[in-house]
Amino acid sequence: MALEFTQATAPTPGGVNEDAVAVGPDFAIVLDGATATGAPTGCIHDVAWYVRNLTGRLYTKLLASDADLREIVRSAVAELVSEHTATCDMTNPDSPSSTVAMARFRNGLLEVLSLADSPIVVERSDGRIDVVVDDRTSHLPSYSRDAVRALRNTDEGFWVASTRPEAADRAVVASVPIDEVRRVAVLSDGASRLPERYGWAWSRFLSALAEHGPAHIISETRSAEQTTADGAFRGKPHDDATAVLCTVLPPGTPSEQAAAG
Ligand SMILES: [Zn+2]
Repeated sequence: MALEFTQATAPTPGGVNEDAVAVGPDFAIVLDGATATGAPTGCIHDVAWYVRNLTGRLYTKLLASDADLREIVRSAVAELVSEHTATCDMTNPDSPSSTVAMARFRNGLLEVLSLADSPIVVERSDGRIDVVVDDRTSHLPSYSRDAVRALRNTDEGFWVASTRPEAADRAVVASVPIDEVRRVAVLSDGASRLPERYGWAWSRFLSALAEHGPAHIISETRSAEQTTADGAFRGKPHDDATAVLCTVLPPGTPSEQAAAG
């Protein structure tokens, strides 16, 4: 089996990118850091530090281990907690945090994991599309800063990678035999707005991603955002956006022969 990965990431225009992306030989990881609200975090590190360090740990573990994806997230978060527990307050609910979206093609299986609103979109060989996403952040009773703070990492609210390794056990996971998979998109929610806000069918989104690439999807997203009236949607007018396209190359294609040789 040969795989092809293409990727793009872009910050909110004029901002610092708090998304992170990493692609290995048979996996892709996308993280989306929660933007600081200005409330004290109890942490001497910023969101970008958290996101990059968690990405690095996930990358190393995915390379070295066949462990269950939730176990990989749990142990990576636990390691990161121990990295700053001496200097920072691990009980502060505003401590830096991140979503996690992962896809791994190994041992005949595609396995995916979504924790807190970064989706993975799986297109099967027969054209069927499954969107795997932890959508608990879309169903909160209130989005005031205090409400979100109180709901973070609770079963009444939502779970996210931060200071509680057990958040990993609340991630949404799925698996599909690789021979039934055509392509997979791993996205931050800033890159899934065309279907989620702007009415694109997922099939149109995946076709555009495959034909024109991840950077094109981000630029189409920015165009759509620019024509959106203020206040039309909950949340930020723009967001950091990251997209990875993973394509399973059919046997016998030139790329596969090159990869096998
Ligand atoms: Zn810290």
